[in-house]
Amino acid sequence: MARYRGPVCRLCRREKIKLYLKGDRCYTDKCAVARHPYPPGEHGQGRQKYTEYGQQLREKQKARRIYGVMERQFKRYFKEADRRRGVTGEILLQLLESRLDNIVYRLGFARSRSEARQLVRHGHIRVNNRRVDIPSYLTRAGDQVSVRAESRQLPLFKEILESGGGAASPGEWLEVDNENLSGRVIRLPRREEIDVPIEEHLIVELYSR
Ligand code: SF4
Repeated sequence: MARYRGPVCRLCRREKIKLYLKGDRCYTDKCAVARHPYPPGEHGQGRQKYTEYGQQLREKQKARRIYGVMERQFKRYFKEADRRRGVTGEILLQLLESRLDNIVYRLGFARSRSEARQLVRHGHIRVNNRRVDIPSYLTRAGDQVSVRAESRQLPLFKEILESGGGAASPGEWLEVDNENLSGRVIRLPRREEIDVPIEEHLIVELYSR
């Protein structure tokens, strides 16, 4: 399963906003976007004007980077969203939000989506009491997501719980039981419940060219 392995703060600087890819550091004044609020590279501080295509492309890249999805998989999500009935952009975001790594992050069991991804890959997470180690696993309404009993004593989970959970707010579409390190997907989120700074209509326009 491929994933981006380069410097992540560079991605935020490219999009000129905080994408919260590094967990705790993102909330400190060490954040690279706070210190250098312009794109990286030699011409980063030059004048930047995007064409219509450029704006659509940036929006798609931003969404990919927030959820940690590679191009091919992102395109597959778009095709699936386009195939389903309803507003394509909203369905696309719902698909991305349903990913198991995102759910683990939203439930507060990880400080960033990349940390959540690692927890899933290392087998610490169970869905309906069965081990699932695929970060892109799409959860459904009613699914129970929990931390494996043997993993609950890990310093990471203790630390997260002591600090009152991860940085993400679960939202009303998720139910969290912090004491038992478990949660449930009640339903799919509505667009207004997805707090990501993405103009999804630009992504739809990009793929509809
Ligand atoms: Fe982005 Fe976090 Fe790095 Fe700031 S610290 S640039 S929000 S990944």
